[in-house]
Amino acid sequence: MPRLTPIERIRNIGIIAHIDAGKTTVSERVLYYTGKKHKVGEVHEGKAEMDWMAQEKERGITITSAATTCSWKAGAKGEPHQINLIDTPGHIDFTAEVQRSLRVLDGGIVVFDGVAGVEPQSETVWHQAEKFQVPRMCFINKMDRTGADFKADLSSIRERLTKDIAVIQIPIGAEDRFEGVIDLIKNKAIYFKGDLGEKIEEGEIPSAWAGEAERYRREMVEKIASEDDALIEKFLEGGEITEEELKKTLRQATIAGKLVPVLCGSALKNKGIQPLLDAVIFYLPSPSDLPPVAGYEPEALRGQGERTEKTEERKADDNAPFAALAFKIASDLFVGKLIFFRIYSGHLEAGSYILNTSSGKKERLGRILRMHANHREEVKEMFTGEIAAAVGLKETTTGDTLCDPDHPIVLEKITFPEPVISIAIEPKTKADQEKMGLSLHALSEEDPTFRVRSDEETGQTIISGMGELHLEIIVDRMQREFNVAANVGKPQVAYRETIRKKAEAEGKYIRQSGGRGQYGHVWLRVEPLPSGKGFEFVNAIRGGVIPQEFIPAVGKGVKEALGNGVLAGYPVVDLSVTLYDGSFHEVDSSEAAFHIAGSIAVQEAVRRAEVHLLEPIMKIEAVTPEKFMGDVIGDLNSRRAHIAEMSDRGQAKVIDALVPLAEMFGYATILRSLTQGRANYTMEFDHYAEVPRHIAEQIIGEKSEKK
Ligand code: GDP
Repeated sequence: MPRLTPIERIRNIGIIAHIDAGKTTVSERVLYYTGKKHKVGEVHEGKAEMDWMAQEKERGITITSAATTCSWKAGAKGEPHQINLIDTPGHIDFTAEVQRSLRVLDGGIVVFDGVAGVEPQSETVWHQAEKFQVPRMCFINKMDRTGADFKADLSSIRERLTKDIAVIQIPIGAEDRFEGVIDLIKNKAIYFKGDLGEKIEEGEIPSAWAGEAERYRREMVEKIASEDDALIEKFLEGGEITEEELKKTLRQATIAGKLVPVLCGSALKNKGIQPLLDAVIFYLPSPSDLPPVAGYEPEALRGQGERTEKTEERKADDNAPFAALAFKIASDLFVGKLIFFRIYSGHLEAGSYILNTSSGKKERLGRILRMHANHREEVKEMFTGEIAAAVGLKETTTGDTLCDPDHPIVLEKITFPEPVISIAIEPKTKADQEKMGLSLHALSEEDPTFRVRSDEETGQTIISGMGELHLEIIVDRMQREFNVAANVGKPQVAYRETIRKKAEAEGKYIRQSGGRGQYGHVWLRVEPLPSGKGFEFVNAIRGGVIPQEFIPAVGKGVKEALGNGVLAGYPVVDLSVTLYDGSFHEVDSSEAAFHIAGSIAVQEAVRRAEVHLLEPIMKIEAVTPEKFMGDVIGDLNSRRAHIAEMSDRGQAKVIDALVPLAEMFGYATILRSLTQGRANYTMEFDHYAEVPRHIAEQIIGEKSEKK
């Protein structure tokens, strides 16, 4: 069966915003207008849909699933395009969620509050989007609000985010006199009439705005033309640049990340959303506009985070081998587990077998569902660039690669930050015991930055996450969604161990007295990796010095040993371990013997490599009235803080600092008492750094006393 929507007509986009900027309202309007296009709709029909959405919201159900598919035609003669709206979280504590959504979307709409302009969290998400090279547009929302100031918004974007913006719309009026927008590309005024802004009226630019529009237009044309040699020449010679030329060049520049189109409107007042959708189609990329996806060829050691050197690529082509990325697991009331995935190459039929190169397992994919705003569509086949949800993949988790079993590939993994904080948790009653295990497991499947383990020494269940708030929310969800009550202990810092230099060591596990013996013998080399790279196992055995069948066992032994570091039992991270030599015995060698030899060797190698302790460093931003600033800074300094910057925001002072997490427990209470409750702060994980020696000695000492 051929595909219905050609790949050029697909847009995988996300709406990225600071909490409260209007992401939900914009999404709702997008789904409303796109849904309406398909109906021979009168307004009352539309109203029903809006009401339905309002109800959903009241019941606390988010209207968008991890990915919602809708359809849009740009302009009167436009072809229908498939827009997949990928959900991105508004709250910065869930950076993992932001990262995973950024990974699978091809373009983003960054929404700003027209009164507040660029807020600190918009800056954070903006930089994340930049890191993932996601082409973007800006939508300045809430132009109707008292205090909305388009010029100030543009300045804050230029100052704090980027100077490379192409302002392609300006508002007609502001606050309660916000009437519509001027489309500078078409050079027309656009008004939104009807109860829900569904009737678009185009007209001449009102004379009061003509001068301003002219100035903005000239600036825009110059900005866009500068991206193309022939065009800028024409511009400088005073030639007329056509609408088509502007659109084409702006599209190329946006996709290349060189320009960011800026639009404006008011989602709440139903103004500006249809042109925003048109702009998504005009300026944001389709999957075929992007470079082929990169990965590498898995070898025998599949599924343990190891990689071979052989890189692979997959072109966005329906006839290429199938390769997809699972980016979100959601538990669903009706079908159990839903796996949201994006196809990077090839096509896939429901019911076929796929290989999960991350787990090493082959699985049958049952049904494929495409999620729409208010219904689910079962599809028989999916093609390159599309996003949908699969039912029936039991062994698949977030970040796994799914591919054609005959053409295995491992796509670049979504890297999530490691949890930085742990607490012990126990069920309130015996009856809760089993349910707690099940619910924690389900929650950890959904959220890769949330982990559960049981402490070998104490037998306690330990949960880890990205901050006190993150874990509080997990415990709360456990209670609300799974009806499990639990007590939690004091939060503990998740320290790590790492090495500073290269070292080698031998591991031998040989028992050859009587009966069948044991024989495992390896030489390993450990080398530091850049921070955040985790662990890599490289097999460099040549000429069968160790038979292939024993190599995965060495990898497992190494991984297990690294889970329990040599200094104070914390996981050892950011290193690669290369197996480069060893020997075996025809009769006595076994997987078990090589497993043990691997763990002996890696422990010794780590000891020789200047192993030391790391602690999580948090980025905090405290906002306080000026008169408390001295106290707040003094207190931060007593917490080993590094004050990075102090600035003004309106009447308040903003302090940006880096502080070790170990010093920040209970900070909310302390800050409140220091400032009579008038300051607040946000905190997120920034990086791991070495623990100063005197503090490290204390931590290591405490750990060994406990043993
Ligand atoms: P989110 O947190 O980014 O999802 O933001 P919401 O869409 O929930 O909006 C936050 C608040 O701003 C809500 O009270 C909305 O009604 C309001 N809001 C959203 N868009 C607009 C707008 O265009 N104008 C005005 N005045 N308020 C808006």
